[in-house]
Amino acid sequence: MIVSKFGGSSVADATQIKKVRDILLKNKERRVVVVSAPGKRNSGDVKVTDMLYQCNALVQKGASCKDAFKGIQSRFLEICNQLGVERSEIQDKLDEVRRLIDSGKGSNYAASRGEYLSGYLISKFLKWEFLDPSAFIVINQDNTVNEESYDNLLSLFDDSKNYVIPGFYGRDINGEIKTFTRGGSDITGSIVARALSAELYENWTDVAGVYRANPRLVKSAQPIRNLSYKEVRELGEVGASVFHEEAIAPVVSKGIPINIRNTNSPDEEGTLISSEKVGSGIVGVSSKGGLSRIKLSKLMLFKRSGVRHALLTMLHIYGIRPCYSLFGIDSIIWYFDSSMASDSVCSNMCSRIKKEYELDSIEVERGFAILGLIGPDMDSSTDYIKVVAALEKEGVDVRSVNYGASDTACLIGINEKDQDRAIEISHRALFE
Ligand code: ASP
Repeated sequence: MIVSKFGGSSVADATQIKKVRDILLKNKERRVVVVSAPGKRNSGDVKVTDMLYQCNALVQKGASCKDAFKGIQSRFLEICNQLGVERSEIQDKLDEVRRLIDSGKGSNYAASRGEYLSGYLISKFLKWEFLDPSAFIVINQDNTVNEESYDNLLSLFDDSKNYVIPGFYGRDINGEIKTFTRGGSDITGSIVARALSAELYENWTDVAGVYRANPRLVKSAQPIRNLSYKEVRELGEVGASVFHEEAIAPVVSKGIPINIRNTNSPDEEGTLISSEKVGSGIVGVSSKGGLSRIKLSKLMLFKRSGVRHALLTMLHIYGIRPCYSLFGIDSIIWYFDSSMASDSVCSNMCSRIKKEYELDSIEVERGFAILGLIGPDMDSSTDYIKVVAALEKEGVDVRSVNYGASDTACLIGINEKDQDRAIEISHRALFE
């Protein structure tokens, strides 16, 4: 069996949903489909999920969402009409959703209704069974998936039927509707694939897979045919957001491959993600900006592990959770997301730490990015040297290189202003 998940752009309107139907009918193994809420139809459009959050925000302010909900209603009714599904099939559900949002059911309920209505409508169109994920997915307080979810689905599943399951939500331990983080329908697909021991989890989107570099920056970039689970996670860590990072874990334990494919170009093979390492050297590059770095030094800091621990604890107290570290004999550099600490928080923290730990110096610098070179056996590949040389030649200041710590990533610290150029230069040095 194949579990197929279709993202927001694949179900944005009736034309897209007909493509979904054609894809599903092409292979009899595609018997379970997980769907997102209608996404953007063009760059100026608004996602239904965002409209639902807005409705809830109005209610929180004491207003009614009646007018704002009209936009959501007309999107669903238009889809209904164009798919030839009777308006009466969905009108009651729309009325109920609006009423419950207005009654103050809260943001999880409101946000989840895009997927709920989308799934319901598509099940009517396909004449497949509708299965509400709140009947089996239990989401723990810390947002992890409760293990009972897998058995719950198995006990509900009738092998003689085909199913449409809305993505993005389940229920909390008290039985209330709870959503995953944004883009969470990927997680639903992964849970369903694992519970049903699917042979493949297809993730249909509007790009032909994971690219060697962001195709908006590098027009000639090609999709990567094979990636390992770890390479996808590493790419996600440095800003490549094709697949929700939390959606990997459920399928990894059963070794179910994930195939990222393009709904608008279904004959392309897309990217196959599995436990296998394929090829060698760097397979893709990506970068993440919006970083700051804290650099602190003290003579013999390297020998004083207690101080290093204490410093890290101090950072945590000030809300800073470093994402990359570099150590020298007298100094440490920690990179962190700039949004974690304002300038005044940083300056308070620096003066306190400097005094308490008698540091020689401490400074926070803004405006950094990390360029990630990802591939199998990176700890023994020397391809990164080509990239560093090309960056230096083109005037991109290389501020740090973290090579060898990970077997799938080499991380290069650069100035944020050089981010896009660094991607182009790396792609040229490696793949052109
Ligand atoms: N509709 C939700 C979002 O916009 C979840 C998803 O599409 O995966 O984030």
